[in-house]
Amino acid sequence: MSANSQKDYYKALGVPKTATAAEIKKSYRELARKWHPDANKGSAEAEERFKEITEAYNVLSDEKQRKEYDDARSMFGSGFRVPTGTRGGPGGFGTTFDLGDLFGGTAGDTGLGDVLGGIFRRGGGTQARARRGSDVETETTLPFGDAIDGATVSLRLTGEGPCKVCSGTGAKPPTLPKMCPDCHGTGQQARNLGGFGLSEPCKTCKGRGMVVDEPCTECHGSGRAMSSRTVQARIPPGVADGQRIRIPDRGAPGENGGKPGDLYVRVRVKPHPVFGRAGSELTVTVPVTISELALGADVKVPTHRGPAVTIHIPPGTPNGRVFRVPGKGVRRKDGQAGALLVTVEVAVPQELNKKARSALEDLRAATADANPRDDLLRRAAQE
Ligand SMILES: [Zn+2]
Ligand SMILES: [Zn+2]
Repeated sequence: MSANSQKDYYKALGVPKTATAAEIKKSYRELARKWHPDANKGSAEAEERFKEITEAYNVLSDEKQRKEYDDARSMFGSGFRVPTGTRGGPGGFGTTFDLGDLFGGTAGDTGLGDVLGGIFRRGGGTQARARRGSDVETETTLPFGDAIDGATVSLRLTGEGPCKVCSGTGAKPPTLPKMCPDCHGTGQQARNLGGFGLSEPCKTCKGRGMVVDEPCTECHGSGRAMSSRTVQARIPPGVADGQRIRIPDRGAPGENGGKPGDLYVRVRVKPHPVFGRAGSELTVTVPVTISELALGADVKVPTHRGPAVTIHIPPGTPNGRVFRVPGKGVRRKDGQAGALLVTVEVAVPQELNKKARSALEDLRAATADANPRDDLLRRAAQE
């Protein structure tokens, strides 16, 4: 059997690269006994493992082959993650940490999975990569006035987090996960790809670096579960309907010490029965009579959350004209408030008392020779 530099024989035997011939032999014996097909009722995994150990031993126990193998690996070895030192001692392969000892029963409710992951991966020479939590989107509906003034809202967020039952370890309490025997907790396995050794996530433990004997019944061993939390979010003043507010660091929690993601809140603004809004300007439509427009008038108009103001309508004001009331709109970031835009709209009386009817009939008679459509008809005929 010739040496294959893409395979990690030291890892297969659970010994450090510096292991003596005696250590290699001892480890091989223990592992061979454990994985011998006769002792494992024909398990395919055991057979595979047994072949691996034997191949590794054949190479590493032969001084010349071991040297060739070491040389080849120091040339091509950059893609390998060779577990070093700490775990490799006698009996390495099947060794599991005594987690109870490690934690002394003090592991808290949360983050145990992270702690475990950190320990396992640190031992394997691969740093657990800090992963930023994902961004979270949610929606909230604000009353019209709160959108103008700004508001603090309670947002209930549902998302995936560490399973509370097993503290994210995936192991059914009180059991704890064990170091993955295939990758020795690194979460990585070397793979031969066109002559180059590459690392890919370990298939046995799916890159987690640990395995569980009895999966948690709540999360079925995934260590993740849906949970909900409530976040207080400050919505700034002047937010518009449909606007998306970014609230930094309030998204999903990060992993392995990574930063949390951001929270994005899509704001819906409830319409107001009277006022409309366009940016920093408020709008309102005010009904007026034909005589107020024709003769002029001072009319009271409402403002948002303030006393009514009076606008002066000059005689001969056309229907639909917009009056600007400065400072009665929405306060902007610069501290200035936009305007209130008042649209006057003639309210045609639906019912007339006798006196009003007679007055309007008099008006019609008095203006009979001033047909407002004369000009329109003349211009239409010109083309
Ligand atoms: Zn693994
Ligand atoms: Zn669980």
